[in-house]
Amino acid sequence: MANTTVTPTIDKEAIRQKYLAERDKRLRSDGNAQYLRLEGQLAHYLDDPYTPRVERAARTDHVTFAFIDGGFAGLVTGARLVEAGISDVRIIEKGGDFGGTWYWNRYPGAQCDTASMIYMPLLEETGHMPSEKYAHAPEILAHCHRIGRQYGLYDNALFHTEVSALTWNDTQKHWLIETSRGDAFTASFVGMGTGPLHVPKLPGIEGIQDFAGHSFHTSRWDYAYTGGDPSGAPLEHLADKRVAIIGTGATAVQCVPHLARACKDLFVFQRTPSSVDIRDNEPIDADWFAEIATPGWQQRWLENFTENQAGGRATVDLVNDGWTDLARRIRERIMQLPQDQRTPRQMLAAYEDADYEKMEQIRARAQAIVDDPETGEKLKAWYRQLCKRPCFHDAYLQAFNEPATHLVDTDGQGVERITATGVVVAGQEYPVDCIIYASGFEVGTDWTRRAGFDLVGRDGRRLSTHWSDGMRTRHGTHVHGFPNAFIVQPTQGAQLISNVPHNLTEAGRTIAMIVRKAIDEGSREVEVTAEAEEEWIQLLLTGSGRMIGSPDCTPGYYNNEGQAPGPAARLNVGYPAGPTAYFRYLKEWRDKGDFAGLAFR
Ligand code: NDP
Repeated sequence: MANTTVTPTIDKEAIRQKYLAERDKRLRSDGNAQYLRLEGQLAHYLDDPYTPRVERAARTDHVTFAFIDGGFAGLVTGARLVEAGISDVRIIEKGGDFGGTWYWNRYPGAQCDTASMIYMPLLEETGHMPSEKYAHAPEILAHCHRIGRQYGLYDNALFHTEVSALTWNDTQKHWLIETSRGDAFTASFVGMGTGPLHVPKLPGIEGIQDFAGHSFHTSRWDYAYTGGDPSGAPLEHLADKRVAIIGTGATAVQCVPHLARACKDLFVFQRTPSSVDIRDNEPIDADWFAEIATPGWQQRWLENFTENQAGGRATVDLVNDGWTDLARRIRERIMQLPQDQRTPRQMLAAYEDADYEKMEQIRARAQAIVDDPETGEKLKAWYRQLCKRPCFHDAYLQAFNEPATHLVDTDGQGVERITATGVVVAGQEYPVDCIIYASGFEVGTDWTRRAGFDLVGRDGRRLSTHWSDGMRTRHGTHVHGFPNAFIVQPTQGAQLISNVPHNLTEAGRTIAMIVRKAIDEGSREVEVTAEAEEEWIQLLLTGSGRMIGSPDCTPGYYNNEGQAPGPAARLNVGYPAGPTAYFRYLKEWRDKGDFAGLAFR
C-alpha cells in the first residue's frame, strides 16, 4: 500500500469514521417519503410564474412524431428528425416555452456547471458562440429558443400541456396521445425525454402549510416578490425583508450570493453542506473561438470531455474543468501503482486516496474563505466527492462573510418546524417574511409517477408493469412491447451524468436514423425484440454496478436517501465498458444501417 498513501497529514481512518458518523446522524427511516408532493393545498407551488397560459382548441389530428418534453431531449431529437427530412414533429411541453430545466430554473445566479462548449447542444449547427466558459441560465434558455426557431419546432408545439395518457393502437399502428388540455391526437412515433429532475418537491417539515408569509420553490422564482431578474439584476424588493432559504444543494449554492447581497437578513438553513470547489469562470474569446470552431468541433469536444472524464486515455484535455480534474486525479493515483499492484482492491484504495486529498482541499477552502471560523467549520462537507452533486462556485462561501447572512446549521437534522411566522431549529424560532425552498426535485419515485402518465403498449401492457422489477430497455431507448416509442435519457446507455446532453444528442441522432429508415422502407412498426432487450440487460449486469450512490454516503438522491434501493436499482446502470465505449458502440450499430435487434415490420 506504500505507493497509495497520501500526504501524511491526512488521517484517513479518522476521516472515514467522521464520514460514517455524519451519515449515521442523517439516516432516517422515511427516506424518500420525507418529501412532500406538490398537490392539493401545495399545488400552487407548481404554478408557472413566467408565461401566461393561452387558451387554444384541443387537437385531434395526426403527426409523424410526437415528443414529450421541450427541453434538451426534445429539442435535439426534434432537430435531428428535421435534418432527416421529418418535419412533422410535435413537441408537447408542460412549461410555457421550450427549455425544460432552463425554462423553470430562472433563479438568480442559475448557471450550467458543465462547460458551455459541451453542455449546450447544437452549437455548431446554430453557429452560437457561448459567452462564458459556464454560461448563465438566460443564455441557455435563449439557446433553446434558438434551436426551436431554427428547426421550425415552434410551429407544431403544444405548451402548457401535460400528457395524461399514451396508448398504442395495434390496428392503426400509431399512438394516441391525450393531454391535460383535452387533446386526443395520434402520432406514428413517440419520444419521451421527461428527465429525472423536473418535479419539484418540498421538505416534509411539520407546520409547512401554516406559514403565513410568502414562499416559493427555486424552480418557480417569484421575481414579482423579490425584484431583480434572471440575468442577475439586484433583488431590490428584499432590502427590508428577512428571508429563509431551506436547502444547500447545487441550486442554493448559486442563488445564495444574490440573496446575501439583497436581503435585510438571510438565514441559510443547512442540513448537509455541499462541497464547493473553485469555479474559475471566464468569458469566451471570439478570436479563440473562431480558431477552434472548425467543422466537427463540437463532436470532438464532446468526445474529448467524455474520454477525459470517464476513464479514457485522451492525451489532451480540451475542456479542462473540475470534472476532468477529478477524473485525472483518480487516474494519476491509479497509474502510480506498480503494474502488479493494480488489483481492483488497490485501485479502489487509490481512488479513495485521491478523494480524501481533494475533499481535504475543498474543506480547507471553506475554512480559508469564511471569516468566522465556526461558520467555516460548519460549511465543510464530510463525505466523498461523488456522494452529492459536486458544486463549483466563487461567491457562495464568500456570501457568509456578508453581515446579513446567517448560517443556521441543523447538525444534519433539518428544519424542525415551520410556524406562521418563521422557521424553527433546535427550539429557536427565526422569524422571516419569506421562505425560499431550494429543496430539489423528486428522484427516487417511480418513472410513471414523475412522468405523470403510464405508457400502454401492445396488448394493453403498461410500462410500469414491464418495469416492475426494474427498467428494461435496449440502449436505454427501446422497450419491447412498446413499438415506435423511444426514451431519451442516459440510464442503460452511456450513463454520462457529468454531461447529460451528450447522451441526449447521441440518442436523438440515432432515433432520427431509425425513423428515416422505417419511413423509407414503408415499415409501420419498429420494435426491439424480446431477445435483444434481454441480451442488453444481461450485458448491463456484467458491469461493476453504480459508480455513485454508495450506502456509506450521507443520504441524498444519489443513494436513495440512504435506504437500500431494492433489487430494481441494479438495472439503473450504464454500459459496462463506460461512456466512450458506449458512444463508439452506438455509432457503429447505427452506421451499419440494419439496427440489429430492432424489428422493422
Ligand atoms: P438538491 O436535492 O440537491 O438539494 C436539496 C437541499 O434541500 C439539500 O441541501 C437538502 O439537504 C435540503 N433539505 C431537504 N430537506 C430538508 C429539511 N427538512 N431541512 C433542511 N434542508 C433540507 O436540490 P437542488 O435543487 O439544489 O439540486 C438538484 C439537482 O439539480 C442537482 O443535484 C444538480 O443535478 C441539478 N443542478 C444543476 C445545476 C447546474 O449547474 N447544472 C445547478 C443547480 C442544480 P440534504 O443534502 O441533507 O438532503
